[in-house]
Amino acid sequence: MRLTIDGRAVELPEGATVLDGVNLLTIPLPQLCKDPDRAPLGACRTCLVRVEGQRGLPAACHLPAREGMVVSTEHPDAVRVRRGVLDLTLAMLTPSAERADFAQVGAAAARHGLREPGFAPLHRFDVDASKSFFVLDREACILCGRCTVACDEVQQIGAIALLGRGHATKVGVFGDGALAASVCTSCGQCVATCPTGALSPKDAPARIARRVETTCPYCGVGCGLVVNVIAGESSEGRSPHLQTDDRLALMTDDVPSNQSSLGTLCVKGRFGTGFVHARDRVTHPMVRRDGRWVRVSWEEALDAAAEGLVRHRGRFGALASAKATNEDGYVFQKFCRVVMQTNDVDHCTRLCHSPSVEAMLVSMGSGATSNSYQDYEDAGCLMVVGADASANHPVIAIRFRRAVARGARLVVVNPKRVDLCDQADLWLQQRPGTDVALFNAMARVILDEGLANLDFVGNRTEGFEAWRASLEPFTLAHAERVTDVRASDITRAARWYARPPFAGSCLIWGMGITQHTNGIHNAHAVLNLALVAGQMGFPGSGISPLRGQNNVQGCGDAGCIPTNLPGYQKYDPETLAKFEARWGVRPPGRPGRVVTEMIEGCLDGATRALYVVGENPLLSEPDLHHAEKAIDQLDVLVVQDLFMHETAERAHVFLPAAAFAEKEGTFTNSERRVQRVRQALPPPGEARPDWWIACELAKRVARRLGIDVGDQFDYPGPAEIFDEMARLTPLLAGLSHARLDREGGIQWPCPTADHPGTRYLYAESFPTGRARFVPARETAEAAELPDRDFPFVLNTGRLLYHWHGGTLTRRVQGLLELAPHLEVAIHPSDARRLGVNPGSRIRVASRRGELTGHACVTEAVRPGAVFVPFVKLEESAANFLTNSAFDPSSKIPEYKVCAVRVERVPEEASAGRHSPPRPR
Ligand code: SF4
Ligand code: SF4
Repeated sequence: MRLTIDGRAVELPEGATVLDGVNLLTIPLPQLCKDPDRAPLGACRTCLVRVEGQRGLPAACHLPAREGMVVSTEHPDAVRVRRGVLDLTLAMLTPSAERADFAQVGAAAARHGLREPGFAPLHRFDVDASKSFFVLDREACILCGRCTVACDEVQQIGAIALLGRGHATKVGVFGDGALAASVCTSCGQCVATCPTGALSPKDAPARIARRVETTCPYCGVGCGLVVNVIAGESSEGRSPHLQTDDRLALMTDDVPSNQSSLGTLCVKGRFGTGFVHARDRVTHPMVRRDGRWVRVSWEEALDAAAEGLVRHRGRFGALASAKATNEDGYVFQKFCRVVMQTNDVDHCTRLCHSPSVEAMLVSMGSGATSNSYQDYEDAGCLMVVGADASANHPVIAIRFRRAVARGARLVVVNPKRVDLCDQADLWLQQRPGTDVALFNAMARVILDEGLANLDFVGNRTEGFEAWRASLEPFTLAHAERVTDVRASDITRAARWYARPPFAGSCLIWGMGITQHTNGIHNAHAVLNLALVAGQMGFPGSGISPLRGQNNVQGCGDAGCIPTNLPGYQKYDPETLAKFEARWGVRPPGRPGRVVTEMIEGCLDGATRALYVVGENPLLSEPDLHHAEKAIDQLDVLVVQDLFMHETAERAHVFLPAAAFAEKEGTFTNSERRVQRVRQALPPPGEARPDWWIACELAKRVARRLGIDVGDQFDYPGPAEIFDEMARLTPLLAGLSHARLDREGGIQWPCPTADHPGTRYLYAESFPTGRARFVPARETAEAAELPDRDFPFVLNTGRLLYHWHGGTLTRRVQGLLELAPHLEVAIHPSDARRLGVNPGSRIRVASRRGELTGHACVTEAVRPGAVFVPFVKLEESAANFLTNSAFDPSSKIPEYKVCAVRVERVPEEASAGRHSPPRPR
């Protein structure tokens, strides 16, 4: 369509509005209630225009564009009426020194010749400053409704609404209380859209020097971030690029076309990246001399690290970082395989989803999520097992809530009442450690009721009959007895999953079923369910282990696992020869040790040197006293990180690394989408990107060992590292930094430069030919069960406001304010019995250690169970309690279940030490 606006021609697609044309021509027409990323609301009436041949002054945001239309934004009638509307709008605002400009409103009023409101405001409203990151100043609010739409329709939370009537109308929360006492999650979506600054960050950014698109460094969702950089003083009057005193301001969400996040963020992504500027960031290389840290040059530090590693080649282990980029990980594993001649390289996937990856590799031939996030929204049934998505993957939880709003069934399977239960059609609260009985019984229901997809089973799978026979003991009666879940609920869940009301079903799981000594069987039990129902390989279906760290998928893809070369390629002669041809050195041909074996090896001498990048095993390992004892045996510990954390404090060499915003590269998210990470700041002091450090170390170690590595570790930059990885890795062969820059994130497999990427796996076939049913065995519920001395079951997990052990989030003041205390969730009946009140101090002890926290008395946990988050707060950490018993197959520790004792800390012992938790 061609139309004319203010005398200028513009071409618009079918379905566009006149406002789209106005904005395309960058005509400064007020549009206060229009979020650029959302459908128009038509609430503010400030975008009024005149259309030739028409009566009245329609709002451009709701005016469909038509061929030949002649529109004027400058017609005197339109300007006059808009001016009146703006004058009334201004009258709603109370000016003050702090909010002099009112952002978009102020600019629009000034353009219409309005400086002072013509009317006095009728009502005075309170400022709500109860949230740690932003304020709601209602005297700067024009009731446009953008924030309520952002909260309700975009985030699907519904914390705020327009309360009251007439002149008393205001933005507020249920019951007209404080935001901090509401269900608000501090995601900041409302802040991002507010056109007047009524909702504004407490730490309002000063002059923004530049905006850099990158990817969130926290969780595996991989949300698109726009980093806003505040110019440092040294930038004044100079080129606005990478000055050493530039700083990050708050993050902005990426455009809605970003397929990972659709223009949304959670609290950690938007407000939680201040750790980059933490005062205790280590910015210089250091070595330990006579028990004390000494600042040294890079030369000295790298030489010290190299000499130590050379001494212990053969008794060396390496922990890669799932927070670092793919390029960092690729160089790291290449150093291990080429120079240290070992496959003893692993990362934190061992501690979260190794059973999932291993079971999927055996059953389907790929260890990755089969579907895309889009499939969650398209599904007719979502079964979410052992995952607290609202806390751990908040932007995926939005997709779940949207699916429910579209009519999908939501089944939550979790011993703990997680937030998603509020939206669930069915919540199965199984006893911890009884997942095999539950899923095998569901499979029996599917078979017995004729709900199996026998075409899929017959044409695409093997091992069906043996598996079917293995289900014999798993009757509904048995499952009900073992799991404590009603047989009727098990049946309902099975029916909905196998026959969703529309489209397909997605089976999504978290660490609730993997972090067990029976983790591999739990994973096989859920995979068998997906196979018998044929719920994969088409839109709205799939199997999804929700990945924890931002780049845990990519770290494995890049080869930081002991069992496979990059791209999950096997150690077969042909593949080894391919890598030898590129690397000039043949990688070792046998699987190496996993992280749990490396740590155990510290005690028996099998590990004498450890190189740890971006990980903090002395918070993430189970049974921390045991782990400390092991780490203390090391002859050489090299730590490469941002902070002097619990593990680094015991190191011999510290190598300061660049943070996510200080380097180039890629992350791969939970749906296999490879996305760009871009540099917004220079690294502080002498910190360097991880890939650079690993290359420098590799060259020094190789020189001392007499290995000729030629130019194998001389890369101009991360783009060239990615190119080498892609050439050796068929899954990534069609990708490059240049292509990702042009097209945005792309999902692997992407075998050629013209391949569009893969939305879902297994549409036609499996990498193994046929998928395999693997009988899932029911073993003892856990390695350690409650008894008289330790009568409670401990469950562990993460929090919305902290990331894992808290190494990063404890350095963000606002997040610490939102979750300052370690809270121990305990059922009211147990609390009553023990004389524990909400907020009072409580001690939890296992056979391995103890901690103290604040009681959170809640029915979210079962009687006889307590929940403690992983984060270390007030010097207490859950892993002092957990059990290092591990799954014999995948070697994952049993973080989710151990036996503990709980007791009240006498008032006098805790008096004055801590205030009780406050509502958030
Ligand atoms: S911060 Fe998020 S949850 Fe809170 S009111 Fe705003 S949009 Fe709603
Ligand atoms: S959901 Fe995950 S990736 Fe997205 S903003 Fe939050 S922490 Fe970052």
